[in-house]
Amino acid sequence: MFSNLKEKPADKILALGQAFREDPRDTKIDLGVGVYKDAEGKTPIMRAVKAAEQKWWGQEETKAYTGLAGDPAFSDVMINLVLGDAVTRDQVAAVATPGGTGAVRQAFDLVRMANPDARVFVSDPTWPNHLSILAYLGVETVMYRYFDSETVGVDFDGMMADLEAVRAGDVVLLHGCCHNPTGANLNLSQWKEVIDLLIRKGAVPMIDIAYQGFGDGLEEDAKATRLVVKSCPEVLIAASCSKNFGIYRERTGILMAVAQDRGLQKVAQGNLAYLNRQNFSFPPDHGARLVTMVLSDDALRADWQSELEEVRLGMLQLRQDLANELRRLSGSDRFGFIAQHRGMFSRLGATPEQVETLRKDHGIYMIGDSRINIAGLNAQTVPILARAIIDAGV
Ligand code: PMP
Repeated sequence: MFSNLKEKPADKILALGQAFREDPRDTKIDLGVGVYKDAEGKTPIMRAVKAAEQKWWGQEETKAYTGLAGDPAFSDVMINLVLGDAVTRDQVAAVATPGGTGAVRQAFDLVRMANPDARVFVSDPTWPNHLSILAYLGVETVMYRYFDSETVGVDFDGMMADLEAVRAGDVVLLHGCCHNPTGANLNLSQWKEVIDLLIRKGAVPMIDIAYQGFGDGLEEDAKATRLVVKSCPEVLIAASCSKNFGIYRERTGILMAVAQDRGLQKVAQGNLAYLNRQNFSFPPDHGARLVTMVLSDDALRADWQSELEEVRLGMLQLRQDLANELRRLSGSDRFGFIAQHRGMFSRLGATPEQVETLRKDHGIYMIGDSRINIAGLNAQTVPILARAIIDAGV
């Protein structure tokens, strides 16, 4: 049987990480994989998470299963974190999932189950996993214009024109904040226009929010998502705790189905739990437990928020420093977008050949579409990258 299997192409981002590790140059810089790194290049365990973990070690009395939906207390704190008072609890069905990826997968599964004719509209470009999971599930996918490589910002007119093709029952996937891979985001008035279009068309928004707190702040980053749930009859939300709690390997995420009609909450909840059951049964608990403890304890929560804010401001500073250095070297403002983009990533707009030159000649590793992980930089490497970008003719 196994001989029938076809080779799968290596994951490009993971292959890039491998190539970086094998590069003997000690001046090399890794701007590839989407993991936060501090100035020493480490991905630290956040203080509040560590404290919660120590506390939990003393308190934990059983390793018996949680519920199929995970611990309801986790859902409560996450609904509050993402949606604030934009909804009441009885409007939201929610299940814990293995990471944000698990939530994305379950959301697409739910779409397919509820409406096999639904097409899912995704931004061009988007996180590659969106596309590969949709293809794997056989869900028809339509790309809408999103990124303007001339302005290195959102092509809003193109996006709205493409979304005119949406039909009732289709799903439109939107990044809640910190668009991956471009770093270019809609402003709130553009969000309102998108919402009006979705309502007019009878389409269902799905929000993937994996970087809350990495852009303009915890509350700011959730504003668009909250506006969508206040305005639209039905919304799917996949949220990840990997980045903002720094618990990548614990696989902690949540899928929420929000309906203005409270009568739909029960059936949605049952279906989400059913999907967990089919795909992996009970969701992992440890990361969800830590998040619940941090968010429900005033002191831990305050400490987490201040550390997250340090992380966010550090990345903003790196953006500003890189943009300044590029302005100095190029004598122009054409790299100003780096300071405007938000989140962990920016797409530089370099050609694949220039990306290759940066790797070969300068030991600078970025994704082929010229996405850089801002957190891969530090004060020493910002000028090195800027020089290399200019030398490579970007
Ligand atoms: N959505 C987007 C857009 C992402 O960038 C990520 C992380 N790379 C995720 C979802 C989910 O990540 P995880 O499964 O690690 O929580």
